[in-house]
Amino acid sequence: MNGFLILYSIPLNLINFSGGFLAHEVKYVTQTIEKIMIEWSKNGRKNFTIKVPDSHKIKEFELLLKQMLNHYQVPVRATVQQIPIEIKCGCGYTGKARISDPENAIRILCPSCNKKKGRIIVGKEIEVI
Ligand SMILES: [Zn+2]
Repeated sequence: MNGFLILYSIPLNLINFSGGFLAHEVKYVTQTIEKIMIEWSKNGRKNFTIKVPDSHKIKEFELLLKQMLNHYQVPVRATVQQIPIEIKCGCGYTGKARISDPENAIRILCPSCNKKKGRIIVGKEIEVI
């Protein structure tokens, strides 16, 4: 089990090599890799699909995931899939959310009333399957 602890010390060069923009997804990538490591060490699974809600910076997530798996020499194949977030809003709208400004602070908006008060019903978190 001690092997998992190393995941908490993320090599700085992975975070900083591109001006720090990857830092946003580091926490999520770390959590995802932990789940992968547990499955892999338990029953030798080698193929994983990671469903990432579109509130994440998908390219950064994928890049960082591949680099970290490589860094820790985990011999698995992880396929990253982007999934749309769906919300149920107070205005009566239910369905796909509008994700605004993925370059900066990502906001999950209701496409009907344009407000941020929808409850997420699909895509609340990253899934490892
Ligand atoms: Zn609404």
